[in-house]
Amino acid sequence: MNTKKITRINKGSGSHWVGDGFPVTTMFSYQTQTEEISPFLLLDYAGPTEFESSEKARGVEKHPHRGFETVTIVYQGELEHSDNSGNAGKIGPGDVQWMTAGRGIIHEEMHGREFTRKGGTLEMVQLWVNLPAKDKMSQPKYQEILNSNIPVVNLTGDAGVMRLIAGEYKGTKGIANTFTDVNLWDMRLNGGHKTELNLPDGHNTSILVLSGKVIVNNTETLEGKELAQFSLEGEQILVDIQDDSVLLLMSGQPIDEPVVGRGPFVMNTAEEIQAAMKDYGAGLF
Ligand code: MN
Repeated sequence: MNTKKITRINKGSGSHWVGDGFPVTTMFSYQTQTEEISPFLLLDYAGPTEFESSEKARGVEKHPHRGFETVTIVYQGELEHSDNSGNAGKIGPGDVQWMTAGRGIIHEEMHGREFTRKGGTLEMVQLWVNLPAKDKMSQPKYQEILNSNIPVVNLTGDAGVMRLIAGEYKGTKGIANTFTDVNLWDMRLNGGHKTELNLPDGHNTSILVLSGKVIVNNTETLEGKELAQFSLEGEQILVDIQDDSVLLLMSGQPIDEPVVGRGPFVMNTAEEIQAAMKDYGAGLF
């Protein structure tokens, strides 16, 4: 089996605040790479951060999106969201919210109220998944995926577990419905073991290390807040697990279409971005 080659290592450097709730490091973005990360657009990682107890709500106030999906995974802490179509929910450790902005939503993303009052550690990831042109104006929707509903695969040789948020691994299917072929695997790996990950040839692939230490393809050592990108070609990635580690793997079939984005809108042309801003301004979301 051919190994997927490492094409790039992104070491998370610096962070910026999204609203007053999310001190994130951008691990990749369509602003600097397009084809190499497609069908993904953006990966923000908010590493473990302590928040003091507060009476004041923290997060990102109401804002719009159009043309793609946001996938939010909570590792520690608690988030609450609500949108203009009446959806609202709360997600905690292990839970995932898969939001399809489609033609347009307006939502807010806040820390959980109880979490804010008590204070504590927040750790989360938000991944933006692009939609093909034909689905960019589809009906907005949410998939609220609770920890307990996510299929778990035990890796051979006691290497750990893989939680299948989306895609498929050795015959087990992930829980999320996706528009294009996407794997999203939350892996909890045991130090001192090795594992071979089998992936489709033709998928762009990235692995984010949230914590721990692994050696990938016998060459590159990755630790917390580091991300490796891999070639489309190849069907295998070797992971030598040095310490207990938490990894997020995302792979997908590239969407071979132009990407034009501005802030919370990602479309195919500048005209469609203008239309998104106009529609939002006119209250059509
Ligand atoms: Mn948002």
